[in-house]
Amino acid sequence: MRICSYRRDDGMVRAGIVENGAVRDAGTTPWTPAAGELVGPLESVAILAPVPAPAKVVCVGRNYAEHAAETGSEAPTEPQLFAKWANAVVGPGVVVALPPITKALDYEAELVVVIGTTARRVSEERALDHVFGYTCGNDVSARDLQFGDTQWTRGKALDTFAPTGPSIVTTDEIPDPQVLGIRCLVNGEPRQDDTTAHMIFSVARIIAFITEAITLDPGDIIFTGTPSGVGVGRTPPTYLEDGDVVRVEIDRIGAIENRIVSIE
Ligand code: ZN
Repeated sequence: MRICSYRRDDGMVRAGIVENGAVRDAGTTPWTPAAGELVGPLESVAILAPVPAPAKVVCVGRNYAEHAAETGSEAPTEPQLFAKWANAVVGPGVVVALPPITKALDYEAELVVVIGTTARRVSEERALDHVFGYTCGNDVSARDLQFGDTQWTRGKALDTFAPTGPSIVTTDEIPDPQVLGIRCLVNGEPRQDDTTAHMIFSVARIIAFITEAITLDPGDIIFTGTPSGVGVGRTPPTYLEDGDVVRVEIDRIGAIENRIVSIE
């Protein structure tokens, strides 16, 4: 099942089931979708990030060996966590703001996990039972801030730096998240092309690792790391500019596109 979030004409945010090119209302939360009235054709509906304001946005750094290598880092022996907040979350088609504070804006195509049930100290074996579904994400990064600070947070958590969507594909359609092709294109040019099979730490391992320390609740989301091919790893480094369109595609989920726009 594909679950989106959409904004009604009265401003209310609702969940919707996406089917056959149309959206059907599904209630106030995505976690218990119930097929209701037809909202309209998909292209006529104001689609938001599937979780518009997650309480937690947990991210995993350096989770693909080739990506760790291209940034000059060793592959980690345990998942490396950092965070974004809801200020960064935007949906498909929304502008990613390039502020004057950075001159090194970069993309990172990532599989994003959406938690469905509360998970506290769960085993790796039971971890996927707590997943509601998966969506596409772009872990937009300001490399100069990320590597200029001793912590990554400032360079990762700027407003609009976490595009997610377009919809959540539920786990009945993706029982194994480690078999998905994942790609990033900038203005149509392929930049990243890999598979989630190459994650150093699987989704199940990541959830077990996080929940040893932090309880995950329904609607929390996890960015699971990016493959190689990011702009900072290219020779010479190639950063995003005003007007660039970044597309993240993941097999069986779909694609999200966002345009980069310079702001004063
Ligand atoms: Zn990332």
